[in-house]
Amino acid sequence: MRSTAVEDALRAVPRESFAPPGLSPEATYADEPILLKRDADGRIVSTISQPTMIATMLEQLAPSSGAHVLEVGTASGYNAALLAEMVGGAGSVISLEIEPDLAEAARRTLDELGVRNVEVHCTDGREGFAESAPFDGVIITAGAERVEPAWTAQLRDEGRLVVPVAPNGSGTCFTYEKRRGRLVEIDRTPCGFVPLRDHPISP
Ligand code: SAH
Repeated sequence: MRSTAVEDALRAVPRESFAPPGLSPEATYADEPILLKRDADGRIVSTISQPTMIATMLEQLAPSSGAHVLEVGTASGYNAALLAEMVGGAGSVISLEIEPDLAEAARRTLDELGVRNVEVHCTDGREGFAESAPFDGVIITAGAERVEPAWTAQLRDEGRLVVPVAPNGSGTCFTYEKRRGRLVEIDRTPCGFVPLRDHPISP
């Protein structure tokens, strides 16, 4: 972690509020992902990401105060709350989650914590969220097969897109900047993520 903006956000947002009840403080604050949900075959569907990965991606996105940001993959809402902290009261976060139960739980947690500048929508994040575009930044927090055209289209010029391209779980997290309508790569780092899915596993 290099930026104080990310450090301040990590200090301000209580990770335990987003973790399953009863998890020990050691497990909650270990530099590991926290399991939230598996499918019927035992595959991992959702986690709270590893803090190091979260910090790295937030530093790459570098949202400024007042920014309007799109996140794909709300899960518990932890990273959405960090984004909300970074963009501040003048900024806003749209966060998309495909699993209805996770979206609902995230809304509840954010509401209980008094986070007012995040909207959680239950929808396929590969389409982005045209209603609220353009965004100053777009961050994908699940393994994508490719950079979806909607993410680029809905990003403002000069804005950043952080996207793990990791169709089978492990891959590379790319940071792009949109310049004159085109994506220019400015950074890349190895990563592991649960893959984006076409359908929710639960109704
Ligand atoms: N941002 C989270 C971690 C995300 S885990 C954090 O705060 O740490 C990835 C999430 O993406 C899972 O909850 C999964 O259900 C969701 N997801 C998978 N496919 C999706 C899709 N097509 N659209 C939106 N969310 C999706």
